[in-house]
Amino acid sequence: MSAEKREIDWENLGYGYIKTDYRYISYWKDGAWDEGTLTEDNQLHISEGSTALHYGQSCFEGMKAYRTKDGRINLFRPDQNAKRMQKSCERIMMPAFPEEQFLEAIQAVVKANESWVPPYGSGSTLYLRPFVIGVGDNLGIKPATEYIFSVFAVPVGLYFKGGLTPSNFIISDYDRAAPQGTGAAKVGGNYAASILPGQDARKRNFSDAIYLDPATHTKIEEVGSANFFGVTKDGTFVTPYSPSILPSITKYSLLYLAEHYLGMKAEERDVYVDNLDEFSEAGACGTAAVISPIGGIQTKDGFHAFHSETEVGPVTQKLYDLLTGIQFGDVEGPEGWIRKVEI
Ligand SMILES: *Cc1c(COP(=O)(O)O)cnc(C)c1O
Repeated sequence: MSAEKREIDWENLGYGYIKTDYRYISYWKDGAWDEGTLTEDNQLHISEGSTALHYGQSCFEGMKAYRTKDGRINLFRPDQNAKRMQKSCERIMMPAFPEEQFLEAIQAVVKANESWVPPYGSGSTLYLRPFVIGVGDNLGIKPATEYIFSVFAVPVGLYFKGGLTPSNFIISDYDRAAPQGTGAAKVGGNYAASILPGQDARKRNFSDAIYLDPATHTKIEEVGSANFFGVTKDGTFVTPYSPSILPSITKYSLLYLAEHYLGMKAEERDVYVDNLDEFSEAGACGTAAVISPIGGIQTKDGFHAFHSETEVGPVTQKLYDLLTGIQFGDVEGPEGWIRKVEI
């Protein structure tokens, strides 16, 4: 079946689970990952003692497959996801999944679900969710004796409603991750802790919570599921620096594109919440969020508006066009950023 034949309104997809045809699964036992296989079964049968269930010994990745104008399929820097997942595994004592096998698994899942890759121009993409979980019979707080690596795929639309229409965010009173904690790893526990602040923010009509540095509560760290960026009034692209921010591949890509494609100054440095005035534009960036312009931020001292609450700023628009242009194959990106899926 082709994507065109599916009864799906590709332009208006949300961000929810849809069961697609195939997922990849590999088991780790006695010191090694097996060769892995594709399966139609979307249910996992695991021990009640699994460390993933009780102690959050789990990590994940998020990436997308993009349909190009000529009907091919692009992956965006998938090697970076493979490497980051290895770091996440290391931090919580899970066996790293080999990079080559990771890339093969991604290719296999996209290929097997080709008819779920949304058409070019719909704005939608096929989201890929690799994850590793500790499983097996266990009771104490220690590394599991068995692991599962799996990748499933879901067609998705926009993560923050409105797309390039700015939305508002609120500074959270909660902390996301301690400086020497697990903030830089994409591990399950970080997200369990962020569900309440995220829901609080949405209940008050904000898109999401923005977290400050837990040590001083003076500096912006990131959004619950995306990194923060600002564009200063004199045209510098800035993202916060902190050891507890999740190192967003989108963020590092934008730092590169701002400098090398747009000729801007680009830097990672402290961003003080009481100095938001230095920015003419701000946004949230990540695989899911892509680039979501921030209209304004609610702080404890009041509401700070950026460029406009209704229109995307000029630099944000340029970065969005460039990034998505590369991802969908319309713009030549830096060497090695795009991997084609063999279909
Ligand atoms: C995944 C994630 C991001 C975005 O990272 P990308 O590599 O750009 O997708 C940002 N912040 C958090 C907390 C994340 O989990």
